[in-house]
Amino acid sequence: MTGRSPSPPSRDRVRPDVAVVGAGPMGLAIAWRCAARGLRVVVHDPAPGSGASAVAAGMLSPVAEAYFGERELTGLLLASAARWPAFAAELTGTTGVEIGYRTEGTVMVGLTGDDLAEARRLWAYQQGLGLPVTPLRPSELRDREPALAPRVRGGAFAPTDHQVDPRLLVPALRTAAQRAGAVLVPQPVRSLSDVDAPVTVVAAGCGAAALTGLPVRPVKGQILRLRAPDGVAPGFRHVIRGYADGEHVYLVPRADGEVVLGATVEERADTTVTAGAVQRLLRAGVDLLPELAEYDLVEAVAGLRPGTPDNAPILGPLPGRPDVLAATGHHRHGIVLTPITADLIADLVLGGIPDPLLAPFRADRFGAAAAVAASGGPEPTLEGDLWN
Ligand SMILES: Cc1cc2nc3c(=O)[nH]c(=O)nc-3n(C[C@H](O)[C@H](O)[C@H](O)COP(=O)(O)OP(=O)(O)OC[C@H]3O[C@@H](n4cnc5c(N)ncnc54)[C@H](O)[C@@H]3O)c2cc1C
Repeated sequence: MTGRSPSPPSRDRVRPDVAVVGAGPMGLAIAWRCAARGLRVVVHDPAPGSGASAVAAGMLSPVAEAYFGERELTGLLLASAARWPAFAAELTGTTGVEIGYRTEGTVMVGLTGDDLAEARRLWAYQQGLGLPVTPLRPSELRDREPALAPRVRGGAFAPTDHQVDPRLLVPALRTAAQRAGAVLVPQPVRSLSDVDAPVTVVAAGCGAAALTGLPVRPVKGQILRLRAPDGVAPGFRHVIRGYADGEHVYLVPRADGEVVLGATVEERADTTVTAGAVQRLLRAGVDLLPELAEYDLVEAVAGLRPGTPDNAPILGPLPGRPDVLAATGHHRHGIVLTPITADLIADLVLGGIPDPLLAPFRADRFGAAAAVAASGGPEPTLEGDLWN
């Protein structure tokens, strides 16, 4: 699709302007943005919100997750995080649903001397990019988070890394999309040729690989949920990201007493919860925040992140299929990347011109042939490709 105008009002509302495959955060946010701009939108998903977002922690951490060798991804994460305050306010304003958006910031810590050395190297890299990372002396660290274990050797503060609760976010997006007029069809899409719309957006998380041939692979993450006793709020208020005897963990406190403790990163596609992973996560979490030992362990679960060969999302038309837009492969960052993905894909659907921000994330960076073969489209040509 190039430059889609809203269809004129019609009694025949059968054929949508846009079909979205997948009702996770991506699909629902894109559907909301498109429907709010007057397009007729249908969203296909047999189990909305049942993908990676159902287990995700909801950290909005472009600074703490600015890793070596991922500068373009870091740029997109920062741009999306900057949209989060307005996005959250608009979503809550539209739906009346609180989504657990919190802005206390993130404290990053190292438990041992070795952990701190590793952490400091990353913080120096992040500071070198000009990102707001402030080293904290041990006394400053404990002033900020008294619940941290006395053994914790040192830390840093990333004030602009925030959090949201994905289990509140996704239902709110669904409400917003439906109120804007998007229609949810509770069926899977087995082949793109079954979709009848001038534009199809594939936002199916790990399910995008089978539909498009794009190199999206499941990356398993095991994650725990604990609850402070007697329904009180956790004894810490920042997101804590820590290195603890070589384990990398995070702890995300919620106002209702929940603490999310995660997560493993495993190159496998099952969702089994293993005793070893639970043990490692709990040991690291309790080493950093001893009070967790008194919490109830209420959930141990695994989800599958939609990973790509370069850890960055795939955003834009499939090679040779300007009518099929990918919005997938968000891997560890799908929650933070929701606002920018929704805005830029909706702009692309309506205007036909890709925003320059999308250029590093185009679908053909992994090669054209596989994607086209699986999506049943014609051979790639230079004409007709929105990117050329
Ligand atoms: C343990 C863990 C922790 C995480 N923590 C964070 C975090 O703190 N911050 C962050 O930003 N990100 C985090 N993530 C990543 C984030 O959850 C994902 O990047 C995000 O959910 C991707 O959104 P999505 O809508 O593309 O896919 P998903 O959330 O996976 O949703 C895909 C949807 O598509 C549907 N679908 C699939 N195939 C089809 C089909 N053929 N037809 C119709 N529908 C289909 C599914 O039913 C599902 O509803 C975490 C992930 C995990 C696993």
